[in-house]
Amino acid sequence: MKRKIKIQSISAWSIGIALILTVVFVVILHYGKNEVKRFEDATDQYIVCENAARQLQDGSDYLTEQVRLYAMTGERNYLDQYFEEADVTKRREQALESLKKYFDKTEAFQSLQQAMEDSKELMLTEYHSLKLVATVMGEKDIPAELEQLDLPEEEKQLSQKEKLEKAQKLVSNNEYRNKRGTIMREVSGCLDQLLEKTKNRQQRANTIFSDMYLKLEIAIMILVILLLSICIIVRKLIVVPLVYYNKSIMEGEIFPVIGAAELQKWAETYNKVFKENEETQRLIRRQAEHDAMTDALNRRSFEKLLHMYENGDTPYALILIDVDTFKTVNDMYGHAVGDEILKKVTGLLKKAFRSIDHVCRIGGDEFAIIMVEMTSDLKYTIEEKIKAVNEELGTENENIPAVSLSVGVAFSDRENSGESIFKDADKALYYVKENGRNGCKFY
Ligand code: GH3
Ligand code: MG
Repeated sequence: MKRKIKIQSISAWSIGIALILTVVFVVILHYGKNEVKRFEDATDQYIVCENAARQLQDGSDYLTEQVRLYAMTGERNYLDQYFEEADVTKRREQALESLKKYFDKTEAFQSLQQAMEDSKELMLTEYHSLKLVATVMGEKDIPAELEQLDLPEEEKQLSQKEKLEKAQKLVSNNEYRNKRGTIMREVSGCLDQLLEKTKNRQQRANTIFSDMYLKLEIAIMILVILLLSICIIVRKLIVVPLVYYNKSIMEGEIFPVIGAAELQKWAETYNKVFKENEETQRLIRRQAEHDAMTDALNRRSFEKLLHMYENGDTPYALILIDVDTFKTVNDMYGHAVGDEILKKVTGLLKKAFRSIDHVCRIGGDEFAIIMVEMTSDLKYTIEEKIKAVNEELGTENENIPAVSLSVGVAFSDRENSGESIFKDADKALYYVKENGRNGCKFY
């Protein structure tokens, strides 16, 4: 048996799949948003790091520059600028503070802390140099760091020139340069680590993005396939059947049993009602056209048919028939037997005449036959048929007594026609009634 597809199931399935896809989209998008955030954070952190490392380096360079310039020129403002940086601006300390937020306890941060430590250690050499120059220049109100610093005895003994030379040497000799080189390496090591870290994070984000993109592509593809399938299914299971149903209604036909299960059920129910209705209408029509007892066409049908033939071109004969002395038969044998006689007469007439001829009961014991395609030269066929019927009726069987028919005939092609074909046929019938009954007369 062919499997029937239910619209209900399709609808439930599509809602289910759409819901699943919605969840998938939400999850992917949420996941993607988090990843973007993480990627942004990584980039932010890298920028903070880079700035901090540069600040640390700049601060350290600035101090070296100031101390060297002071040793060279002995100008007080270099001394002040040095301590401004060291005690107030504090670029190195600030850089470290801002890094601590992101990288505390990381290897990179440890590298920077080490750089800071080294930088501070270098400051001791710088203080030494500054103190020597300040002593030579006889500076007043020097910062506390220098005030507290006591020069070694042998240096106190040096001449002014030697003190200056010593001060310059302290901040430009190999030892000082090596220490600075170490600080630079620490800082660039830190930067390298951060760069590596950021690269890794970016790579991870990239992988996740590609993966997400693929998943999104698949979800969109499923969605598109689902949409297309729904369109095709709806067309095949609903739209096409409805178009056919519409056509069937217009043409007064039954519905084709196609499409979704529900519509097939619908079509089957409609078809059942349609057929019942058709049968009822056929019955009603039959009842309206036929005589209930004998099943011959009734008077109404006769009149319609006669009117049609009177106005048509087909040659025909109108045969009027009346049962002879029927009243007496009724009186003698009863009404029921009379009915049986009328049925018998109808049966015999239908048998004797062709199926294309119209046998009608137009009154109590009166019948009329419209015999089509008949011309007056064929009188004998009618005579023979009536004779045969009368012979049959003349033999009495068990319950039904013998009766006879009087018959009057008029042809549409008759000569000397009277008022109407009916009246002319009736005249002929009257003649038979008046002249011994049981016979056939032509107008
Ligand atoms: P005639 O030979 O001159 O025709 O004499 P008749 O007695 O047949 O007279 P008429 O044709 O006028 O009478 C028709 C009778 O048919 C009258 C009525 O009692 C009877 N009849 C009419 N309808 C029915 C019917 O449905 N059943 C029966 N049993 N009798 C009917
Ligand atoms: Mg009669």
